[in-house]
Amino acid sequence: MIINEPEIEYKNGEVIVSAGIELDNPSIWEMPQKLYFAFPEECGKVLNVDCNPFLYSMLIPAMRLGENIRVLGTVSPRLTFGLQEYQAIFHQAHSQWARHMVEIEYSRFSERELSPPQKRFGATSFSGGIDSTFSCFFLKEEQQLIPYADLKYALFIHGVDNPLNDPIGFMKLAESFRNFLKPQQVELITARTNFILFTQFLLPWTLLPQVPLLSTAMLLRGLIDRFFIPSTYSYNRFTVAGSSFLSDHWVATEEFAVFQLGRHDFLQKLSYVNQIPEYENVLRVCSNKKISLDGNCGHCIKCLRTMVYLALQGNYSKYKSFPQPFSRLYILEWGWKYHTGRVTFINFIHAAWQKKKYDFLLLGMAAYTLSQINHHLRRFLRFVVPEKIFVRWKQRLFVSEEDILAPPSPAS
Ligand SMILES: [Zn+2]
Repeated sequence: MIINEPEIEYKNGEVIVSAGIELDNPSIWEMPQKLYFAFPEECGKVLNVDCNPFLYSMLIPAMRLGENIRVLGTVSPRLTFGLQEYQAIFHQAHSQWARHMVEIEYSRFSERELSPPQKRFGATSFSGGIDSTFSCFFLKEEQQLIPYADLKYALFIHGVDNPLNDPIGFMKLAESFRNFLKPQQVELITARTNFILFTQFLLPWTLLPQVPLLSTAMLLRGLIDRFFIPSTYSYNRFTVAGSSFLSDHWVATEEFAVFQLGRHDFLQKLSYVNQIPEYENVLRVCSNKKISLDGNCGHCIKCLRTMVYLALQGNYSKYKSFPQPFSRLYILEWGWKYHTGRVTFINFIHAAWQKKKYDFLLLGMAAYTLSQINHHLRRFLRFVVPEKIFVRWKQRLFVSEEDILAPPSPAS
């Protein structure tokens, strides 16, 4: 795989940073010729364009395809050091996806900046879910005591857990998030990327949501020098899902640091966000792209996880964007659908034990059993069915992303 020198262009009120991606061998899934990140035009003056986000973004796809990487642009020495560890962690934890350790050939390295040009701030992601809402509000509290928790920006990315073919729906939702965060003095920044088109049907999305977020934040280095990732897990029991305590901090450059926040478990976060005025009107966790810009479907793994925890805590009926009333069958539905979540179920069973809700505990155990059955069934199918046919099945079952705003210029 060749990652070309990035280009920058201004078009239709946006500034678009892109790099040509050339594969050595045809992929089993057709990919675009360019990976791009688009920002509102006013972000142009704070963008720092180099190959760091493109190398980081394409690493796991290259490991999946078994392609060594040749980078033709400038990269950070610290990032290249960290990505060796990052590769090893993913290869160890997800050998069925990050199949190969790949070699990376570099053309040139960036010099370390001796004096940062201006004061920069912290950023996190925001998409309306429990983890990101908790992080935004909690960090603003923390900032009173610890100045380094200096959160000023929240990134909401078009193309991450929301469909690329609905720019109007995305901007409408972004506006409601912007208004929700304004009293906290957190500024919402939107961006768009076609990263999903390089990975859909090849890699499970649970492995990748942090990639476009950190890549976008790296490009905004005139504003951001630290990124706080709202962790799904806490330190007592975690897993290398995609984003993890073990791996994310390796995605750092000389001027950009990454931190995972894991001091609080999911029940603690739920209790915290439940106190935030109007949050029940903002909560959005859905990953079903047919509906995710309008609300919560109530049947995808992200909806179901939040629903079962809200019910466990006793606040479910307050959140009207989920189907009402709560049915305990949702716990079993979650188990069947979430086929990769061993640690998640153990955490839920433990939380039910803490809450002394023994019916939830027993259903959590049943959900874990269903999850394991589904997991092993899929492994068996993947073993006996040729990969091309498996990918074609996925194409029929799931919505294929369509990038109606793709920059029309050909690959370099
Ligand atoms: Zn959903």
